Amino acid sequence: MLTLGPDDILLGRHADSWQTALDSAAEALVDAGLVEAEYRDGLHDREAQSSTFLGNAIAIPHGTPESRRHVKQTGVRVLQFPQGIEWHDGQQVHVLVTIAAQNDEHLDILRQLTHVLDREGVAEQLASASSAADVARLLSKPTLEPRLDADTLCVNFPARDPQELALASAARLRQSGCVDNAFIAAVAAAQPTWLGKGLWLASSSQGVNQPALGVATPASHTLESAGHPVHALFCLAAHGDAHRPLLEQLMALLDSGASDTLLTCNSAQLLSLLAGETASTPTRRVRVLNPHGLHARPAKQLVQVARAQAMAINVRLEEGSATLVSAASLTKVIGLGARRGQWLVLSAEGDNARQALESVAETIEAGLGEKITPLDGGFDTAPEASTTQPAVEPLAADTPHTGVAASPGLAIAPVFVIRPMQFDYPEHADDAEQQLIRLNHAIKEGAAQLEALVRNAQGGEVADILSMHEEMLVDPELHHAASDAIREGRSAEAGWWEAIETAAHAQEMLADRLLAERAADLRDVGRRVLGVLCDVTLPEPPDHPYILVMDDIGPSDVARLDTSRVRGLLTVRGGATAHSAILARALGIPAVVGAGQAVMALNNASMMILDGDRGRVTSQPSEERLQRAEQQLLDHQQREAAAWETRFEVAQTRDGHRVEVAANLGNTAHAVDAVERGAEGVGLLRTEFLFMAHASAPDLTTQIGEYRQAVEALGGRPLVARTLDVGGDKPLPYWPVPQEDNPFLGLRGIRLALTQPDVLETQLRALLMASKDYPLRIMLPMIKDIAEFRAVKVIYDRLLQEIPTSQRATDVQLGVMIEIPSSALLAPSLAAEVDFFSVGTNDLTQYTLAIDRGHPELSAQADGLHPAVLRLIQMTVAAAHTQGKWVGVCGELASDAVAIPVLVGLGVDELSVSARQIPLVKARLREFDFADAQASAQLALNQATSDEVRDALEAR
Ligand code: PEP
Ligand code: MG
Repeated sequence: MLTLGPDDILLGRHADSWQTALDSAAEALVDAGLVEAEYRDGLHDREAQSSTFLGNAIAIPHGTPESRRHVKQTGVRVLQFPQGIEWHDGQQVHVLVTIAAQNDEHLDILRQLTHVLDREGVAEQLASASSAADVARLLSKPTLEPRLDADTLCVNFPARDPQELALASAARLRQSGCVDNAFIAAVAAAQPTWLGKGLWLASSSQGVNQPALGVATPASHTLESAGHPVHALFCLAAHGDAHRPLLEQLMALLDSGASDTLLTCNSAQLLSLLAGETASTPTRRVRVLNPHGLHARPAKQLVQVARAQAMAINVRLEEGSATLVSAASLTKVIGLGARRGQWLVLSAEGDNARQALESVAETIEAGLGEKITPLDGGFDTAPEASTTQPAVEPLAADTPHTGVAASPGLAIAPVFVIRPMQFDYPEHADDAEQQLIRLNHAIKEGAAQLEALVRNAQGGEVADILSMHEEMLVDPELHHAASDAIREGRSAEAGWWEAIETAAHAQEMLADRLLAERAADLRDVGRRVLGVLCDVTLPEPPDHPYILVMDDIGPSDVARLDTSRVRGLLTVRGGATAHSAILARALGIPAVVGAGQAVMALNNASMMILDGDRGRVTSQPSEERLQRAEQQLLDHQQREAAAWETRFEVAQTRDGHRVEVAANLGNTAHAVDAVERGAEGVGLLRTEFLFMAHASAPDLTTQIGEYRQAVEALGGRPLVARTLDVGGDKPLPYWPVPQEDNPFLGLRGIRLALTQPDVLETQLRALLMASKDYPLRIMLPMIKDIAEFRAVKVIYDRLLQEIPTSQRATDVQLGVMIEIPSSALLAPSLAAEVDFFSVGTNDLTQYTLAIDRGHPELSAQADGLHPAVLRLIQMTVAAAHTQGKWVGVCGELASDAVAIPVLVGLGVDELSVSARQIPLVKARLREFDFADAQASAQLALNQATSDEVRDALEAR
């Protein structure tokens, strides 16, 4: 956003020529520390290519792409020349907006200046302005642009009435930053209005930051309310007069009679309808390939060719915009801010419209006077990347290669590498009927493939997911979308992939994480059909055991793994606390992640040893190494069998130092299984999963029922239940959180819960009542200091008073999670008031090392055995024990075989791990004495990095 401060504007300049004006502009950038002196030549070179005069006495000098290396920091300096300068193209210039841009940021600056070009008298006002503030005001955007784009849509929302659609749409507007909570409250307080023709309207002007129109369509096509059909709900954020164009778009839609088609629209089709393009409007898509997008020069060419046509040509950005602009208006075209790679939709009405669109599109495709290059591979509408082997060194044979230990265990098997496929196909075809036949055939073939796979899968999770793919394949909406595109001149492949992409994109936009994850399934289905069309065989996994190698693996991929054949997982990216790694552990599949690009160069079927404990893989091992590994595997299996036999023994070190071993659960129904695996309690019940499984916050009775299930299964063993930990990256659809730049540093955990104390109170009440006659430990997430604890304690104490002891737990404690460094540093003040601590090492590591735990590349370095994290745990334990309180660890570190002695040595009293790990963790405790553990802890604390900690412990 161009925000000009007084220091950015230099008034009263004088220059004899445009060259000296350019020199003083360069000097101003250098003085401001934005560029090096060499950037001056870049400004001159750029001007030699063509004039940067924009209009209305403004020029926007900027360097050539080559000179960008001299830019130190992106910024702008505005120079005012009251007497004016004659620019080299004969134009009179009063203001230079001189840009230092490292990338294409100048496009945004340009876009914001376009409004100045339309205004009468601005040139004179700029020339005579006597203060920097006046110049800033003249150049800054005058009014708020109304928003209606992909981010304000909410397609196929599983609503039960217009009011739920209104709330979903209002939440979407809030996520887009257009409105705040006051708007949501106003929408919630009123009933939507019936507009006719299946359309409903909710609107308010309260809490509006930017005028916007949200559109929500229901998942159900037969939804009715008060005897009227519900095809779509419009949620209007009204603001002065600024929202008027939005209302006009809405009225045009009502008049068009197209409202009944809204139900079957995906987001791209919705935007097209709202832009006024009906099925009969001739349109032509064309991609911007200019290196720096549609900046002033190419935009001028586009405008010229549009003006040369016999009818009005309109243009809009395909992705995410419903605003049509005239292609004959330079300011409007620049205002689109189209970047390289983005698609434009051209439209026109009248005789020969198609021909006119074609000639405009051809000029754009030819580069609008600039040299253009195709995007990588030239086919980037199609699924990305390539089947060819990446140009990286393959792993050396029989040499261990290090990644991140993500799930323990040893695997020995040939690898099966899944590389992204590339499908080459033409974008257009003129034989629509033939293309439709091809597509139908390919869909049938895809369905037959899936059917065979379902039969082979013989039930279970894999079969369920494949059956869901079969369902997706016969979805009439996909067929319609693809057929429409084909009838408009797309090839079968391009039409199909577009339909898949738009549906997947709409899915991703849903607030509900689980539903959003179905986008990956849609793309899977899409690729299967594309494979048939392009005659590219999709890799089917071998029917013998294998180690799966992929670029990255999402939770849904893990869930669909055929666990009977996948012996191990190896990925290029990812970290140990990513949710896919947590799932791999839950499924008991050894995994090494974040191993780098080299693993993609592995040959299929080559032998591999994968060590999930050490985070190492060895490709093509020697016979000797293989035998050693096989022996190790045998030992491991025996250890597992022995651990299983002794799983009910009390958890303690070899010399009898007691450390409780409990289970981490997300589902109360799994408590029985945890006990069966030897759990001595539940150390972390992630109650957010219960909330996520409901369409609205579960009421008191529902919650009591759920918690009671766990409590009874535990039969007197303690239950540590964490109160709702959502927000940030774990959204609840019915509890929207404003869009945040840093969700991990935003409204999440206890901070969010305290914004709705009634929800928290109901949960506390349910936990207390469900645990009648049983031990209960309530744990608060993301506590940063004692103030947050006290805020909850007030509610908790009141409930203890209110609920008769005969109706609630009496053996009850209230503790906090230590997962923010501040709470570890302040542990002494917390320990004085809380009953216990449980260290969440996943988040504690993330916040201590400033590494996003889900970061595809960096999270590999987020090792909880980092000495900084260990010191925080040490401080926590010391503070707790001084006050006679206990400390658990419930992050993933608690099941790391190398970390266990260190944690025990630091004095941790309880380890809470995934249920599957319980027998092994108990067995691990029996392998050392407490004094050994203390020595390990001391050794670890004395190291400087996590690698040094691991090396030192291994050498011990
Ligand atoms: C943690 O942060 O370590 C933790 C146990 O909580 P979660 O993984 O659910 O954020
Ligand atoms: Mg956490």
